[in-house]
Amino acid sequence: FLFHGKDDKTLDIADIQSRIFKAETYIKQALSVLEAKRLMNTLRESALKDPLTGLYNRRFLQDHANHVISGVLRRKTTLGLIMCDLDYFKQVNDQYGHDVGDMVLKETAVLINKGVRDTDIVIRFGGEEFFILLVDINPGDAILVAEKIRKIFDEAKIKVPNGSIQKTLSLGVSEFPGDGEGFWQCIKYADVALYKAKDTGRNKAIRFDEEMWTGDEF
Ligand code: GH3
Ligand code: MG
Ligand code: MG
Repeated sequence: FLFHGKDDKTLDIADIQSRIFKAETYIKQALSVLEAKRLMNTLRESALKDPLTGLYNRRFLQDHANHVISGVLRRKTTLGLIMCDLDYFKQVNDQYGHDVGDMVLKETAVLINKGVRDTDIVIRFGGEEFFILLVDINPGDAILVAEKIRKIFDEAKIKVPNGSIQKTLSLGVSEFPGDGEGFWQCIKYADVALYKAKDTGRNKAIRFDEEMWTGDEF
């Protein structure tokens, strides 16, 4: 058998088979490169996400903070910072066990997401502590969002295997750049406000105020 190749050279069967073999080898290698790339993306993604809740983790914040900050400064908008922590969460573990505790943490992520925009960034900051970045808000609006989240949470019944439980959240709020020039300093301010909420009865959203800041801790 004789075939005519594209360049009009005549090819015999052996030639064609060798070309097919090369093509197959090439495709197999190309595919494995694609798979490797996909795997790399999955790994990169999972390194920045908390497996329990699917929320971003602290490392995501460290990696992406500069990008978020420069965007807000360029657009001359405000970044709302909300630090929140479940009230008496240890009781859930003690009373119902760690697995139920985990379910409550998962549901907390869902409830927080209900109160924010898709473009906002929700981070599992620590065990039962969550940090929310409200991107491009109007100055003064962060406390409104925090209060909305507090209410959603307060009214929610969280399903657990033998019924449901109700928990509350305490939230501390600050705004960048309104409250301070440094982004990480503003996170500290949100944390200070959170501790104020804890100290004054919990199930509260409190906006940072300069008077709360003694300066010793920074
Ligand atoms: P407070 O109102 O002062 O915040 O009290 P709290 O009980 O929520 O706070 P505390 O810091 O005493 O307890 C937090 C608990 O969260 C202790 C820890 O075992 C639990 N925790 C942290 N991470 C996880 C987790 O991934 N799963 C479960 N089930 N529990 C966790
Ligand atoms: Mg707590
Ligand atoms: Mg805590």
